[in-house]
Amino acid sequence: MNYKEFHRQSIEQPDAFWGEQSKLVHWNKPFSSVLDYSKPPFSKWFVGGETNLCYNAIDRHLATRGDQPALIFVSTETNTEKVYSFRELHAEVQRMAAVLQRLGVGKGDRVLIYMPMIPEAIFAMLATVRIGAIHSVVFGGFAANSLATRIDDAQPKVMVTSDAGMRGGKAVPYKHLVDESIRLSATPPSKVVIVNRGLDKDMPIVAGRDLDYATLRQQEMDTKVDCVWVESSHPSYILYTSGTTGKPKGVQRDTGGYAVALAATMKYIYCGNAGETYFSTSDIGWVVGHSYIVYGPLISGMATVCYEGLPIRPDPGIWWKIVQDYKVTVMFSAPTAIRVLKKQDPAFIKKYDISSLRHVFLAGEPLDETTHRWIEGELGLPVYDHYWQTETGWAILASQPGVEMSPTKPGSPAFAAFGYDVKLLQEDGTEITEPNEKGVVVVVPPLPPGCLTTVWGQDDRYVQTYYTSFPNKQVYSTFDWGIRDKDGYYFILGRTDDVINVAGHRLGTREIEEAIGSHPAVAECAVVGVADQLKGQMPMAFAVLKDSSIAETAEQRAKLEKEIMGRVDAALGAIGRPSRVHIISQLPKTRSGKVLRRSIQAIAEGRDPGDLTTLDDQAGIEQIKSAMAK
Ligand code: AMP
Repeated sequence: MNYKEFHRQSIEQPDAFWGEQSKLVHWNKPFSSVLDYSKPPFSKWFVGGETNLCYNAIDRHLATRGDQPALIFVSTETNTEKVYSFRELHAEVQRMAAVLQRLGVGKGDRVLIYMPMIPEAIFAMLATVRIGAIHSVVFGGFAANSLATRIDDAQPKVMVTSDAGMRGGKAVPYKHLVDESIRLSATPPSKVVIVNRGLDKDMPIVAGRDLDYATLRQQEMDTKVDCVWVESSHPSYILYTSGTTGKPKGVQRDTGGYAVALAATMKYIYCGNAGETYFSTSDIGWVVGHSYIVYGPLISGMATVCYEGLPIRPDPGIWWKIVQDYKVTVMFSAPTAIRVLKKQDPAFIKKYDISSLRHVFLAGEPLDETTHRWIEGELGLPVYDHYWQTETGWAILASQPGVEMSPTKPGSPAFAAFGYDVKLLQEDGTEITEPNEKGVVVVVPPLPPGCLTTVWGQDDRYVQTYYTSFPNKQVYSTFDWGIRDKDGYYFILGRTDDVINVAGHRLGTREIEEAIGSHPAVAECAVVGVADQLKGQMPMAFAVLKDSSIAETAEQRAKLEKEIMGRVDAALGAIGRPSRVHIISQLPKTRSGKVLRRSIQAIAEGRDPGDLTTLDDQAGIEQIKSAMAK
């Protein structure tokens, strides 16, 4: 079948299409209907069916491939390599599940996982869904304050953490941050399970609350924990993502729809087969880590690589060494990482035998043409750009070589993935049908299986945020601009809102502004994303002081800038830190008081600031121009 026909069927006959795909996973009890769309835009997939994500990821493979590799742990930080077979993974996950159960975690309870890239993090995720509980993994780079916000929203019963992670040879404390987040939280968990790696000798222990995982695990070495069968719509996890408000949204994922969608993507997009190895270079703290380090590969019976380390340490050949050593067939990475490698000696790629590798997928941020051509040329393999969001859990736009091979076009994530009825709309809601016209990328609901089912605990916010961008049209907005060329290839042109993308990580400028605004000297500020050669974008801040006399000298300004950056580090973590904090005396605003962020961004990128007719006072614009000129 060709791609067009495949996609048409997925949209026009969703019941037949997804009914067929549902056979890719195990159901303890069959579903009674494929889709319930009686309450738009909420959709329920595989209604009444009972399944379990962990069962599909592990137990189902025990009979056929129990002794084959399931989890390959490589840490270039601690010089560790360890391979877990499906059977060993099964045993470890049951131990972790037993520990969680003993601590009172049951169906529907939340478990917050704040962990470095070590096997126990993956055990914890799988153990949580095994017992019908809901995990919320928080990226290790987030600071205590961000962690506290997520604790208060998800209200976990238990947190699983580690004493420390390692980055570039240095220990990065985790447990210290957990303590701080619990101090800041209004609804802290009663128990904290610690995987102690012996990296932080000064780790404080709170008696009665903090528990050592190694000790607990010893008591459960042979404990069997059956999978808890859950209805298809039962939440499997919550994953927080930034938006335009200061408060991150808890993306809620179901169970059955997610399992089916991932299994289908392994077949039609990634073309990964059982018994092979999948290597995603992401982190379990991001959606790619959830879908393509943990669930997708395991559901399809592939071994997955859990890599703790940098792409260039001990040398820039490390990824290709992993490909060689573990016969990786499919790789998934991000454009920023490839740009980092591009700056290194390409001989490192040629040093290893990467003949097992069939293709590489990149996502998370725009892939520039030069980088795309460079990596395809160096590897001599197809490299596919594909486009998706935390919300969707899997690709919205992607080449689907498992359906039909189609040529790649540099800079394009290709076509709509099966199940997504993608359209481009003008801001007034008119559909764009002509090629090369810019519009907002939207998906006509129902969203396919596996996408977010709601915002955790806030159904209204789900509808309000994603479905109210256009007059009289209830469509899911991606908040990205795009165009479609005459051959049907899409190109993503950037966000329509104030969300920025730093090295593939989504940040809300609002959150950074709140952190800066918490500095007592700051009256108001604006943060914009500015194009960066390596990271795609970097936040840049412009702050107005309550009393400008405190920053008259260059020295005073530098000191203040450092303090303000420290505020961002403390609130969000270093990933949110602006490249610069420019101290100015006035922000450019419209007459109604709205900060002209797009004009600020244009000036910061050396572009024309555009239409300034709504500007209240020219002085604000001049301030930005002179700050940039310095
Ligand atoms: P996140 O939810 O953090 O993965 O961020 C999703 C956002 O990243 C999208 O809304 C896009 O703005 C951007 N993005 C993801 N993949 C791509 C891609 N292949 N090309 C361009 N932008 C992308």
